[in-house]
Amino acid sequence: MDYFPLFINLKQQACLIIGGGEIALRKLRLLQSAGASVRIIAPDICPGIQEQVQAGTVDWQATTFSPEQINGQRLVIAATDDPAINQAVFTACEAAGILVNAVDDPTHSRFITPAIVDRAPLTIAISTGGGVPVLARHLRAQLEALIPHGWGDLARLAAQLRELSKEKLPDPAARREFWENVLASPIPDQVFSGQIESARIALQDMLEKDQQPIQGAVYLVGSGPGNPDLLTFRALRLMQQADVVLYDNLVSKEIMDLVRRDAERIYVGKKSSNHALPQEEINLLLVRLAQQGKKVLRLKGGDPFIFGRGGEEIAELAAAQIPFEVVPGITSAAGASCYAGIPLTHRDYAQSVTFVTGHRREGREGDGDIKPELDWPRLVNPAETVVVYMGVAQAGYIAEQLIYHGRQSNTPVAIIERATTAQQRVVISQLDQLAASITTANIKPPALLIIGDVVKLHEQLNWRNDSAPFSAENQIHLSMDKPTIK
Ligand code: SAH
Repeated sequence: MDYFPLFINLKQQACLIIGGGEIALRKLRLLQSAGASVRIIAPDICPGIQEQVQAGTVDWQATTFSPEQINGQRLVIAATDDPAINQAVFTACEAAGILVNAVDDPTHSRFITPAIVDRAPLTIAISTGGGVPVLARHLRAQLEALIPHGWGDLARLAAQLRELSKEKLPDPAARREFWENVLASPIPDQVFSGQIESARIALQDMLEKDQQPIQGAVYLVGSGPGNPDLLTFRALRLMQQADVVLYDNLVSKEIMDLVRRDAERIYVGKKSSNHALPQEEINLLLVRLAQQGKKVLRLKGGDPFIFGRGGEEIAELAAAQIPFEVVPGITSAAGASCYAGIPLTHRDYAQSVTFVTGHRREGREGDGDIKPELDWPRLVNPAETVVVYMGVAQAGYIAEQLIYHGRQSNTPVAIIERATTAQQRVVISQLDQLAASITTANIKPPALLIIGDVVKLHEQLNWRNDSAPFSAENQIHLSMDKPTIK
C-alpha cells in the first residue's frame, strides 16, 4: 500500500489553502463540507471565493505565501500553478509536521485527496495512489450510478436504532443476523424512495416484538421505450437485485440482458393478446411470488402508469398488503418524440399534447377489430398534438374520425416504429393517407402515431437521420413552412 487511507475529523479545525483560483475554490468547498475553518492565502481571488469572503464564510489574507503562515494549521493545501510555491509550502509543512497536499503534485504532498462518493455519513474514497486520477474518477462515476442516494439516510437510520437493537438483541450474532435480514428486505428500498419515517417505525416495531423483517415485495418498474440507455438508475439497481422478473414483449432483449443473471424470468405477454397471460393471472402471480418472500420485478415498457395497466396490478398488491413501489419510466411518446426530432409542443405549432389509446382496452395490441371510442371533437384542435398509443391497427379509422370531426385531412402524421432502438423507423404521412402509408411501409408494432403540425419539424430536427430505410418515394414530403424560431 503506497498510501494509508484514513478519514479525518476536521470540524472547526484550522485549514489553510494557498492560492485563489478555481481549484482553490473547489478545495475550499470540499474542506467546508467537512466543517473545517478555512483561510485562503493569495494576492488575488476568483469571483467564487470573493463571494464567500463577502459572506464571511472564509477568511482571506491578500498576500503571497510565507512559511510562518502555516503555524497552528491542521492541514494545508497548495493550490497554485507555481511549482516553486508548492515546494516552499511542502518544505515548511514537513518541517512543522503539518499535513500537506499540493494539487496534482504528489512529490510535494504528504497526503493526497481521493475521488469521493458522498452519501454522508457513508463516504467512499477512491485512490489510485496519485498516479492516474482519471481512473479513480471513472470508478467513482460507476459507483455513483450504483449506490442509491438514500444510502446516507439508511446509515443514519441504522445508527439511530443501534442502541435499541443492542438492548433487544444482546447476542451479537443475533444482532448481525437481524441487520442482514433488514438489508435483504424491502426496507432499504423504502428508505431510498423517501419513506424514512415509516421504515423507522417498522424497524422499531420489529425490534420491540422480536420479529424478522418480511422479505417479499413487488417493484413495478417502467423500462422506457426500449433503449437500455434510457433506463433510470433506480430501474437498473432494482433489475440487479430482483429474484424474479415478469416481463412482456415491450421490454427489449437489451434491457432483459441487464437483469441479474440468476433471477428467474417469467414471460407474461406475447404480441398477440390471444397468448398473453390474462391480466388477472398476472396480478395474482405477483401476489403469490411476493408472499413466497421474493423480490419481484414487474418490468413494463415505457411508463407503468401510461397505458400500462400498472394501476390494476398494484391494486391487487395493496389489497394483499404486500409492500410495493412504482418506478417511472420514459414513456414511448417522449422517447419517440425526442428520437424522431418531433417536439410534442412548440410555440409556433402546438400548445398542448394529448395521449390517447387507439385500442379500447389499454395494454394490449392485436385485437385489431375493436374500434376505439374517443372523444373525437376534443382531438381536432389544430394547435394540439395527439399521440396515439396502440393505434396502428385502427389507424385508418382514427384518421377518418379525426377528419370527419374537423381536423384537416392534410394534417401531418409521423408513424414511429420501435422508437429509440437501433431499429427505429420514422415514416411521415398525413391523415388522409395514413392507412396506406402504414400498409406500404409494413409498419409493425410497437409503433406510435404523432399527429399534428409539430411533425413538420421532423425534417429540420431529425438528428438521427433515420427516415431513410423506408423508400423515399413513399414518404410524404411536407411543404415546410419552416418555423421562425425566435
Ligand atoms: N406504458 C407504455 C405504453 C404501453 S401501451 C409507455 O409508457 O410507453 C403499448 C403501446 O406503446 C404500443 O402499442 C405502442 O404504441 C407504444 N410503444 C411502446 N414502446 C414503443 C416504442 N419503442 N416505439 C413506438 N411505440 C411504442
